[in-house]
Amino acid sequence: MLSSMMQRPLLISSLLEHAAHWHGDTEIVSRTVESGTDYQVHRYTYADALRRCKQLANAMSRLGVKRGERIGTLAWNGYRHFELYYGVSGMGAVIHTINPRLFPEQIAYIANHAEDQYLCFDLTFAPLVEKLAPSLPGVKGFIAMTDRAHMPAINVPNLLCYEDLLSAESDQLVWPAFDETTPSSLCYTSGTTGNPKGVMYSHRSTLIHTYGVMSPDAFCLSSRDVVLPVVPMFHVNAWGLPYVCAAAGAKMVMPGAALDGASLHRLFEEEGVTMSAGVPTVWMGLLNYVKSNNLKFSTFKETVIGGSACPPAMIESFERDFGVTVVHAWGMSEMSPLGTMCRLKAKHLKLSPTEQFAIKIKQGRAVFGVELKIVDGDGKALPHDGKAFGDLMVRGPWIVDQYFKEERSALRDGWFATGDVATIDADGFMQITDRSKDVIKSGGEWISSIDLENIAVAHPSVMEAGVIGVAHPKWDERPLLIVVKKQGAEISREEMLKFFEGKIAKWWMPDDVVFVDQLPHTATGKLLKTKMREEFKGYKLPTA
Ligand code: AMP
Repeated sequence: MLSSMMQRPLLISSLLEHAAHWHGDTEIVSRTVESGTDYQVHRYTYADALRRCKQLANAMSRLGVKRGERIGTLAWNGYRHFELYYGVSGMGAVIHTINPRLFPEQIAYIANHAEDQYLCFDLTFAPLVEKLAPSLPGVKGFIAMTDRAHMPAINVPNLLCYEDLLSAESDQLVWPAFDETTPSSLCYTSGTTGNPKGVMYSHRSTLIHTYGVMSPDAFCLSSRDVVLPVVPMFHVNAWGLPYVCAAAGAKMVMPGAALDGASLHRLFEEEGVTMSAGVPTVWMGLLNYVKSNNLKFSTFKETVIGGSACPPAMIESFERDFGVTVVHAWGMSEMSPLGTMCRLKAKHLKLSPTEQFAIKIKQGRAVFGVELKIVDGDGKALPHDGKAFGDLMVRGPWIVDQYFKEERSALRDGWFATGDVATIDADGFMQITDRSKDVIKSGGEWISSIDLENIAVAHPSVMEAGVIGVAHPKWDERPLLIVVKKQGAEISREEMLKFFEGKIAKWWMPDDVVFVDQLPHTATGKLLKTKMREEFKGYKLPTA
């Protein structure tokens, strides 16, 4: 028996058509890359963006790009990158956003593995592209995302100018209709070991994820919002925001290459930003800048923080010092990326601020569309009591089944193993204990490195902290705390350890503290624990 309903495919082009028709005068504002350190913004509307996306799609067809082929990008958050999201996917090709912070060898590996046909780049990356070009034999042309006047003087085969390509084309196009399971965008995971793996999203997975992200207990986005995605468009599609903002008709503000505290704060104020999203490391910089310059935010109301554990001290500071609500979120590239978000339920509203805070620091509840469970080593489901912790497994329509070009499914009994260890409480709030590889195994028990790091960064003299397990003759592993002090701040090993007293079980106490100038990070801003473990391999703990 058939249903009575229309069979309209879920296509990415429909998001922008919706925004252009019903929010045609809503702005997309971008800090320009061409202006360098000068503060200059480009301003246009969703209606303008639609016309240019159609020109871009026509240009891609003229270049011979076929459905399913990949177009690489090395670009910041800006209007031309936004156009590539829609123009490329809209015509049925695949936008492959590459993280420019990866090592050049990794970028070359990724672009070759993806078989990118063209590589589009912001001017910042012109020197990188020149260096990469000889190792990218499959790339037919390099498209500088700028106008003729700003074309870089680099030596690469078939250097093309983005604005020239667009201005040669008509803005008339009826977006092609195709199956909603057609691939639309490709991201490689920032794996800390081995080669990066590709996750190929589809039009369908992207649209369903868009509905999920926009919903009230998730990002809660509407046409009244002004959204500044600090999270880069080269990191899991900026958590879906370029799609979600179009669906909601929200104004978009994009920071380009200017991610320092001063630039961001100015953009927040001048454009009336209400909502933002990013990883903790970026907020650390912005908070420090705003605090040390005695500034405030006048329109900024809420920010989503995820990508790595948001330290409770950061949530507290945003809320207490600036009146900005932090919503903690968890997800991964394999999940498009949204998995959980932490918003209180009605019954929590009558709790004291301290009790509420204890919930808000968790990674949160599953967004509709994501199923979660925690299992033990035998795959047996563990109770939701907030205490039992196990491997976090997920499934849903926007979660990976198999990595790009891999023969085998990545699933175990139909579930994807996230590699995270977590608890889930009776109200469904999930809390990440650790990455399974990072948890410290001491005498058969587990110590959460995230918990120890969160406590350390709450100390006023600490800028950043990382905890790793170091080999111990009696306990297998014991925690070593590695600290970056705030500029000009002083703190001794003993003061640091004293700060943990009463906050953790005695046996969780780090065995030693080391002060360093900086900690290593992955290309997406997470602490690079493999590197830290390598650096401190053989470190002799005073307790050993
Ligand atoms: P990526 O695919 O690069 O986005 O990395 C995904 C991984 O980042 C997850 O599996 C977690 O280990 C980590 N992660 C993301 N969000 C959080 C969070 N809010 N708290 C703790 N870890 C997180």
